[in-house]
Amino acid sequence: MSEGQIVVTGGSRGIGAAIAVELDRRGRRIACLSRSGEAPVGYGLACDMTDEAKVAEAIAAIAAKGPIAGLVNNAGHHVATPSESLTAEEFERSVRLNATAVVVACREAYPHIRANGGGLIINIGSFFDKLGVAQNVAYCASKAAVGAITRCLAVEWADAGIRVLDVAPGYIDTDLNHEFLARDNVRRWLERRVPVKRPGSAEEVARLVGTLYSEDIGFLTGETIYMDGGQGMNH
Ligand code: NDP
Repeated sequence: MSEGQIVVTGGSRGIGAAIAVELDRRGRRIACLSRSGEAPVGYGLACDMTDEAKVAEAIAAIAAKGPIAGLVNNAGHHVATPSESLTAEEFERSVRLNATAVVVACREAYPHIRANGGGLIINIGSFFDKLGVAQNVAYCASKAAVGAITRCLAVEWADAGIRVLDVAPGYIDTDLNHEFLARDNVRRWLERRVPVKRPGSAEEVARLVGTLYSEDIGFLTGETIYMDGGQGMNH
């Protein structure tokens, strides 16, 4: 893959920070976007990914520092709400960050990645995209949209040398769900439900993303790659 910066959204913490560290370890230059603007490696810019103008501004600022070779759309959030009380506003807030921001960041990065000779965009989805999960209408719908966005952009931008993938993790122990995963009954439930009998780590997701950026696998595009310890296919 061509040289250049890789932009990691939500790179300040959790899976995004682990991805930034892993890509840095593999010799890539990293730019992180998050609300705090913190970055474990490379440099960080404060950017609320739900603010379209700010995303355009941040990607332009990164491009001014050097070529862009890739984008990892990782910023996201999860809320569980009983569907009988889910408001349109709450639903749209999830879609805005988990899906609309992916479209906006891809659009803003596109001319820069194309100008650099093509590259790889990885969207972090979720294995919830194919499941029916109680109280998770907004999260599941927004992550299903990530799979659709990935497939459409992969087809549309292949001529520009841009591949697009959706890495869809299962339960990963981060700030997003640490409290939930720490409960004894949840641990026991995961031991029954997940064939590998544990949640994944942010570093494991990062190693997959690092491999996808490091290896020349130009025939792979548009796919959702599930990484859930086998949970999603276990009945
Ligand atoms: P964390 O809550 O640990 O981290 C979320 C990251 O996103 C932080 O860097 C945060 O930074 C950033 N962020 C949140 N809101 C915004 C915003 N509006 N604008 C810019 N940045 C924002 O989450 P995880 O690391 O666990 O999750 C990362 C991704 O992985 C998400 O898309 C999530 O849906 C997905 N995922 C997670 C799973 C899990 O079990 N943990 C399972 C499957 C998918 P800051 O607060 O500084 O803005």
